[in-house]
Amino acid sequence: MISVEEALEIILLKPGSYGVEKVSLKDAGNRFLANDIFSDRDSPPFDRVMMDGIAIDSNLINFKEPDSFLIESIQAAGDPQKKIADKNNCIEVMTGAILPANTDTVIPYEDIDIVNGRAFIKQAITPKKYIHRQGSDHKKDQLALGKSKRLNAADIGLLASVGIDKVPVFKLPMVAIVSTGNELVDVKEIPQQHQVRMSNVYSLQTALLGDMVVADIFHINDDEAILLTEFSKIINGYDVVLISGGVSKGKYDYVPLVLEKLGVQKLFHQVAQRPGKPFWFGIQEQLKTHVFAFPGNPVSAFVCYQFYFRQWLFSIFGNQLKLPLMNLSDDIIASNNLSQFIPVILNTEGNEVSIVTNNGSGDLFSLSAIDGFIYLPKGDKAYPKKSSFPFVKIT
Ligand code: AMP
Ligand code: MG
Repeated sequence: MISVEEALEIILLKPGSYGVEKVSLKDAGNRFLANDIFSDRDSPPFDRVMMDGIAIDSNLINFKEPDSFLIESIQAAGDPQKKIADKNNCIEVMTGAILPANTDTVIPYEDIDIVNGRAFIKQAITPKKYIHRQGSDHKKDQLALGKSKRLNAADIGLLASVGIDKVPVFKLPMVAIVSTGNELVDVKEIPQQHQVRMSNVYSLQTALLGDMVVADIFHINDDEAILLTEFSKIINGYDVVLISGGVSKGKYDYVPLVLEKLGVQKLFHQVAQRPGKPFWFGIQEQLKTHVFAFPGNPVSAFVCYQFYFRQWLFSIFGNQLKLPLMNLSDDIIASNNLSQFIPVILNTEGNEVSIVTNNGSGDLFSLSAIDGFIYLPKGDKAYPKKSSFPFVKIT
């Protein structure tokens, strides 16, 4: 059986490529940028007034006795640049305005008194203050955002500021989520005593939406012939198929057999991990369809999605999912032969995690109570508390 590291390597060596599209700014959040973006102008684009007050030429300040300046005009934010006619005067300026020509210093209202159209300086002033200099944050033609960046809210603001309203992003794969199992009924149905409502498809669909992937949901019973017909259509119609259930050792776990009959080449089946050991991964090379077949237990399916699928998704766009190291607040002993994904909850400071016990990988309710999993590599080793492990945040 292969290790978690080997399984991940196999998956990451099989990227998918779905092209590039342009989307409007409002739809670009959490998408991956497909090109480098360069600034079309300096930032700020002009010497920007940072305080409401007056602007003067500091060469004219008489530092010995209190100065006063006649107010010539007002430079509001959004006005084209004004110019002082007489350098002994001042111009009233507002935050966000371009600094008037022939001035180099802003004095805030707090430091002046205005009487009969003259501004009297109340205290010593510092020349050249309160001006956000043109290009001091960023220069025209410099890289503003790099290709592969996952766009967050600040990035969207930045793109707007450099004039990008149609954002080039990597296209997302078309994803199908398929649950298998005769015991499963949809949420709209009333289950009989021996049945359960399918939940994985919905949690996976929501997790995908967090990465902007809109996925269709299917359900197929454990019947080899029906699985063959239905999977054949799904594998033809989608770039990625996420399957829940039917990959273990049970009599009716037909999924691996059916997938191979449909030409999906198995790249591995079973990973030395808990939960999620029966995980199956393969590719239909002609159709370029990736198939991630997760075990059906809710915690297993979720762990496999969060750890393997999300790392794959980020990597195909040239990005890398971050798995920050977190200190564990408890002592722990690693299992001898299986790597583990341990359910944990973050402390309020967000720098330490503690273990949440669950009832095994079928315990769907435990998933709602946790923030993620820590990855504990196999190897029969005891770790004292405060040891750090990669943290897989659940989305
Ligand atoms: P399997 O991997 O098919 O052996 O399923 C393992 C367990 O997961 C069984 O108890 C299934 O009923 C359950 N299971 C499979 N698929 C789902 C699903 N979509 N939602 C909730 N439970 C599921
Ligand atoms: Mg099943």
